[in-house]
Amino acid sequence: MAHKNHYQILIIGGGTGGIMTSAKLLCERKGLDIGLIEPSDKHIYQPALTLVGAGTFKYEDTIRPERKYIPKGVDWIKDYATRIDPDTNTVGTRENGDITYDYLIVATGIKFELDKIEGLKETLGKNNVCSNYTDPRYTWEVLRNFKGGNAIFTQPATPIKCGGAPQKIMYLTADYLRRHHLADKSNVMFVTPGTVIFGVEIFAKRLHEICDRYNIAQAYYSKPVKIDGPNKLVTFEMTGEQPELSEIHDKNPERFGVKTEGKRFTVPFDMLHLAPPQGPPDLVASSKIAHQHGEMKGWVEVDIHTLQHKRYPNVFCVGDSAGVPTARTGAAIRKQVPVAVKNLLKVMDGDTNLVPGYNGYSSCPIVTAYGKMLLAEFDYQNNHTPDPTLRKFLDLTKEHRALWILKKYGLPWLYWNMMLRGKMM
Ligand SMILES: Cc1cc2nc3c(=O)[nH]c(=O)nc-3n(C[C@H](O)[C@H](O)[C@H](O)COP(=O)(O)OP(=O)(O)OC[C@H]3O[C@@H](n4cnc5c(N)ncnc54)[C@H](O)[C@@H]3O)c2cc1C
Repeated sequence: MAHKNHYQILIIGGGTGGIMTSAKLLCERKGLDIGLIEPSDKHIYQPALTLVGAGTFKYEDTIRPERKYIPKGVDWIKDYATRIDPDTNTVGTRENGDITYDYLIVATGIKFELDKIEGLKETLGKNNVCSNYTDPRYTWEVLRNFKGGNAIFTQPATPIKCGGAPQKIMYLTADYLRRHHLADKSNVMFVTPGTVIFGVEIFAKRLHEICDRYNIAQAYYSKPVKIDGPNKLVTFEMTGEQPELSEIHDKNPERFGVKTEGKRFTVPFDMLHLAPPQGPPDLVASSKIAHQHGEMKGWVEVDIHTLQHKRYPNVFCVGDSAGVPTARTGAAIRKQVPVAVKNLLKVMDGDTNLVPGYNGYSSCPIVTAYGKMLLAEFDYQNNHTPDPTLRKFLDLTKEHRALWILKKYGLPWLYWNMMLRGKMM
């Protein structure tokens, strides 16, 4: 289908951020001229992938047709954006040529960088090396065939989406092993490049209690650098100068059969789950809208409170591509979208008095057992910012069954029926 070559508002990416933003814009102001570039005809509800990996949610139920969620009145350009030139307000595409815009919203998500760990590309999805990020069905296959041994869970030194996801599947695995009388034959370990188990103190305390409950060993300050799939060995490297942090915190660390060599240590595994290394999409990183230097290099350079681009006022960004120092989650996007939309409409109306409304809110629904969840909500300062309604009924510093029900049934329903429709933001 031939598309126009100019839109008042052009959105790149039709995942969580792109669809929520287009829907919210039309809720706020009917008749806007919006084009949305998205190549995929499937929309995946990613938060449920954790449950798929634990065999408690059907993979098919995480996927719905993209078409159903593109709001009426939005022109879906089923194509890849190849270039962003903010000086000429132009986005290049693979099949539809150049498209120009008055205002641009970038919602292109995050990119997997499998090359950043030696051996990962060759072995991911085989040899009991699994990731809910790439194929949760294989995680479940590995888990249900696990008969005991070392189950190792880790994450890379790069930013990742949903920083809690590598731990969620670990707690579910540990619970599964307990329920299937395999816990005595199993050694579970969490290895992270971070220096703490969680950035918010109250939840760090809870997660340590949960690790104790499951007898989960922990090693900090260590990143995965090499995976030898056929021999089932994973090698980690210390990420800093504090060797005591990367020691294995456990009553009996010998049980893992670790071999140490200088700053590296190698662990045999019978199950290895990891979040792959991640980074900004090439489209963004190679464009002038990206931070050109520093820690945020490659991510879109937005004001962290208004979500407006710092150098190109007609450009906004929401979601995983944004250079904002908070956890990359759908929950964060739910709070970003109303702010970005409000500010974009202000810019369109010639009002330069933008609202610095986004405080870095993000949340991590940490499933801690089949039937239990801890809801960690926080802001840029890592303050605990519990939901005002839920906190009336529940002590939100603790695990609850009601939160598990929210995760498994409530949030997917809210996502498909409310959030993607621009409601309940
Ligand atoms: C295992 C797992 C568990 C998670 N758990 C949770 C959770 O419990 N709670 C929570 O809130 N979040 C969770 N998340 C994170 C959440 O799903 C993401 O943060 C969120 O979906 C990001 O939205 P986004 O719009 O930035 O990117 P996405 O939803 O990934 O969408 C990006 C879109 O951009 C498109 N795109 C990319 N490049 C181009 C291009 N060049 N041209 C055109 N289109 C392009 C892609 O096709 C894609 O559709 C989880 C994620 C995973 C993987």
